[in-house]
Amino acid sequence: ENKDQKFVYDFTEGNKDLKDLLGGKGANLAEMTNLGLPVPPGFTITTEACKVYLDSGEEPAALRDEVSAHLDALEQRMGKKLGQADDPLLVSVRSGAKFSMPGMMDTVLNIGLSDTSVEGLAKQAGDDRFAWDSYRRLIQMFGKTVLGVDGELFEDALEGAKEAKKVAVDTDLDAADLKKLVKQFKKIVKSETGRDFPQDPREQMDLAIKAVFDSWNGDRAKLYRRQERIPHDLGTAVNVCSMVFGNLGPDSGTGVAFTRDPASGHQGVYGDYLQNAQGEDVVAGIRNTVPLADLESIDKKSYDQLMQIMETLETHYRDLCDIEFTIERGQLWMLQTRVGKRTAGAAFRIATQLVDQGLIDEAEALQRVTGAQLAQLMFPRFDETAQVEKLGRGIAASPGAAVGKAVFDSYTAVKWSRSGEKVILIRRETNPDDLDGMIAAEGILTSRGGKTSHAAVVARGMGKTCVCGAEELEVDTKRRRMTVNGTVVEEGDVVSIDGSTGKVYIGEVPVVPSPVVEYFEGRMHAGADDADELVQAVHRIMAYADRVRRLRVRANADNAEDALRARRFGAQGIGLCRTEHMFLGERREMVEKLILADTDDEREDALKALLPLQKKDFVELFEAMDGLPVTVRLLDPPLHEFLPDITELSVRVALAEARKDANENDLRLLQAVHRLHEQNPMLGLRGVRLGLVIPGLFTMQVRAIAEAAAERRNAKGDPRAEIMIPLVGTVQELEIVREEAEEVIAEVEARTGVELKLALGTMIELPRAALTAAQIAEAAEFFSFGTNDLTQTVWGFSRDDVEASFFTAYLEKGIFGVSPFETIDKDGVGSLVRNAAAAGRATRPDLKLGVCGEHGGDPESVHFFHEVGLDYVSCSPFRIPVARLEAGRAAA
Ligand code: ADP
Ligand code: MG
Ligand code: MG
Repeated sequence: ENKDQKFVYDFTEGNKDLKDLLGGKGANLAEMTNLGLPVPPGFTITTEACKVYLDSGEEPAALRDEVSAHLDALEQRMGKKLGQADDPLLVSVRSGAKFSMPGMMDTVLNIGLSDTSVEGLAKQAGDDRFAWDSYRRLIQMFGKTVLGVDGELFEDALEGAKEAKKVAVDTDLDAADLKKLVKQFKKIVKSETGRDFPQDPREQMDLAIKAVFDSWNGDRAKLYRRQERIPHDLGTAVNVCSMVFGNLGPDSGTGVAFTRDPASGHQGVYGDYLQNAQGEDVVAGIRNTVPLADLESIDKKSYDQLMQIMETLETHYRDLCDIEFTIERGQLWMLQTRVGKRTAGAAFRIATQLVDQGLIDEAEALQRVTGAQLAQLMFPRFDETAQVEKLGRGIAASPGAAVGKAVFDSYTAVKWSRSGEKVILIRRETNPDDLDGMIAAEGILTSRGGKTSHAAVVARGMGKTCVCGAEELEVDTKRRRMTVNGTVVEEGDVVSIDGSTGKVYIGEVPVVPSPVVEYFEGRMHAGADDADELVQAVHRIMAYADRVRRLRVRANADNAEDALRARRFGAQGIGLCRTEHMFLGERREMVEKLILADTDDEREDALKALLPLQKKDFVELFEAMDGLPVTVRLLDPPLHEFLPDITELSVRVALAEARKDANENDLRLLQAVHRLHEQNPMLGLRGVRLGLVIPGLFTMQVRAIAEAAAERRNAKGDPRAEIMIPLVGTVQELEIVREEAEEVIAEVEARTGVELKLALGTMIELPRAALTAAQIAEAAEFFSFGTNDLTQTVWGFSRDDVEASFFTAYLEKGIFGVSPFETIDKDGVGSLVRNAAAAGRATRPDLKLGVCGEHGGDPESVHFFHEVGLDYVSCSPFRIPVARLEAGRAAA
C-alpha cells in the first residue's frame, strides 16, 4: 500500500466512471450527488482498502484516520454526532462492488442506535414506535450479518411478538411491543455470541465495515461470481450513508423503480412502493407493496419529483436505470441508481428507442446488445403457463424447447422423422454415427457428458436443443426405453426437453416459436405495419451491424438446404463444406468397397461410383450459393469411421464362424477394420494423409468439384468453389496434392472448355502448419484456421475425452474460465493464429484468411478474429446472425 493512497471518498468527490475504485453503488451515489439530486450525504471506502484487508487480514493503517476525518465532516454537516445520546446521527453501512451482485453481500441500516440514543431519536422524531422499530432492525441486521447469528432466531421472535398480539404485520406492533422485542433480540445476541450487542456507535460502524469486506468472500458471493464470471480479486467498496427514514409513519415509505419496463423497454411508471417501511422490506416481501403509480395519490409532490428525477437519470445515463428511493415525511431521497438489467428482448428494443430519442447513436446501440442475447431470442420456448410433469434434469447444453416422441437410436429417429413424426433422440451419449439421427430429431437428450460432449457441441452447432448429462436417466438402448426415478419412458412416448434450463418433462409442453427466427427465415417482415416490435428492433440493429462490420460471415454447410437457410440468415458464402457427410448413408457401401479394394481396378470402380454422387451434391450446393464463395474441404476423418464398429463386427464374425457360415465380405471387412484400427485416430491417418496414401481419392473429389463448377457455369451460374486441404503440417504435403489437383482441373477445363478459376488452399489446424505458415502460404491461396483441431493439438488434449475426465475440475479450479473449445484461447491458440496470419500474408499479401469451426460463432472469439485481421468467420447457419452482430460490435 502506498503512503499517499486515498482510501475514502466523499460522495461529492466521486463520479460514475470510478466504479473500479468506488464500486457501482458508490460511483453512482457520487454521480447523483453531483447532479444535484437529493442523496443523503456520506462517503465511500474504496475497493483498494478492501483488497488490502483481504490480502493481509488487516485494514490499511491509514484507513481509520481517514474514516474519522470523513465522519467528522459528515457530523459537522448534519449538525449531530454518530450515536449522539439526545439526537443521534445514524448511518447505513452498505456493500457495493464494481458489478452488481444483488443480495450477495451485506448492508446494515440504523448504525448509531444504542440503549441511550434510541431515546434521543424517539424524542427528536416525536415518535417512540419509530425509534424502537429502527433499533430492533439494527440489532436484527447487525446480529445476522456482522455477528453471524442465525437470522431465523430474530424472525421467529418477531413472529412470536405478532402472534402474541394477534396481528398480521409488523406495523401493528407498537412502541411497547418493539421495546420488548429489542430486549429479546439483545438476549439472542448475548446467548448466541457470548457478548453484548455493542453500544459504542463507532465500534458498530467499524465492525460493520469489516463485515462488508468479509462478505466479499462469503460462499454465496463466491458462487455468484463464478457463475457470472466476475473476477474474484476485485473486492467491494463500502458506502457509509446518513440514514433517512421511510418508517416514520404513513407519510413515509420506501420503493424501487425503473425508468422504463425492463421486460419490454416501454416507457411508463414501473416500480413498487411500500408505506411506513425501511428499504429491505420491499424486496423481502414482508408486506404487500403497491404499484408505483399509486404514489401519485399518496404523495403527489414526491411522485412528481421522482418522475422528474427518473427523466434526468435516463437522459444522463442514456439508458434504462433502476433506482431505490425513500420518502421521509414527504421528503424524497435517492438511495441508489444503476443502469438496470433487462431481458434480451428489452435490450434490443431499448437500444433502438434510445436511438430514436437521439440519446445514443448507432455505434452505441450496438454496444447495448450482445450476441448471447440475440441467440437467446432465436430459440423457441416453452409456454411458461403450461401445466407439466417434470421428469428430471440435466445440463442445459444447447438452448431451445423441443417436444417429440422418444427414440433411442439414430435409425429410428431418421425413419420416424421421414414419416412426419417429431422425435427426441435419447442416448447415453452420442458419437459421429448418431449424426443423421441428431439432424432428424427435434432435440437430443443424453444421460452422460457435459457441455463440451459430442452431443452438446454438435447440437449447439446445429442450433438444436440439447440436454446432456441427465444422470437420473437410465437409458436402455437395447430395450428401447429409459427409466427415470421409477418412471418408464418407452419408445414413442412423448417427452419435452428445455435446453435453456436442462429440464426434462414427460408429455407435451406447448412451444411458442421465436418471432426473431421467423424474421430471419423471411416468414415475417420487419417493414410490415403490424410487425412485432422486437423484430423491428432486431432488424434495425442487424442493419447497423452489417453497415460497420469488416469481417465477413460465412456458413458451415454441407448441403443445399443448409446453404439456403444460411443465405437467408445473411451468410456471405460457405466457409466449410465437410464432404464426409456425403460418404454416409447409402453410400457407405461404396466407401467400404473403396477401403477394401485389393486392386487398382477395384478401387477405381469404387471411386467411379462415388464421383457422380459427389458431383450432384456440389452442383446443388453451388447453385444454392450462386455468386458466393464455397469452400469445400476434402475428406478429413479417419477411414475407420466409415466402417462398422470393431467389437460389433468381431462378435458377428465369431458367431457366424461358430455356425460355420462366415461371410466372405465380413471377413474382409474385419481384416480392414483391424488394419485401420488406430490407438489415436485423431492424430492418425486422416486429412491430407488420406489423400496421399489412397490413390485417386482426393482427385476424385477435385474432379467432382471441377465438373460441378463447369456444369453450373454452362447453366449460366456463378459457382465460386474453393478447394481446401485439411490437416496439412508441411508445405510438401500441400504441393503434392496441389499438383495432382491442378492436373485434374486443367483436364476438366480442357474437356469442357470452361475456365474454372478454382482456388486451392489449406486448413491451418496443426501447430506445425501455423509455425511454418510463411512456407505454406507459397502453395495456398487461402488459409482457414481450423481452431477446433488447433485447440486439440496445441493443448494436447482430445475434445472427445477431456470433457468427461477433467474439464469440470479445470473449470472449478479456475484454470480456465470457459472451455477453450467454446471461446478461443487467445494467449495460446490465438497467438498461433495471429502469427500465422501475419506470416502467411507476408508471403502472399492477398492471402485470404478465415476461420471455421465452433469459435466462428462464439461472440468473444469473433472479436478476437476481427482484431487479428481475418477476412471472415464461418459458423453453423444458426449462429450467423450472432456472428454478424458481434462482428459489427467489434468494428463499431
Ligand atoms: P443492496 O445492495 O442489497 O440493494 P443497499 O445497500 O442498497 O443493499 O441497501 C439495502 C436497502 O436499504 C435498500 O433498500 C436501500 O435503499 C436501503 N438503505 C440503504 N441505505 C439507506 C439509508 N442511508 N437510508 C435509508 N435507507 C437506506
Ligand atoms: Mg440496493
Ligand atoms: Mg479439423
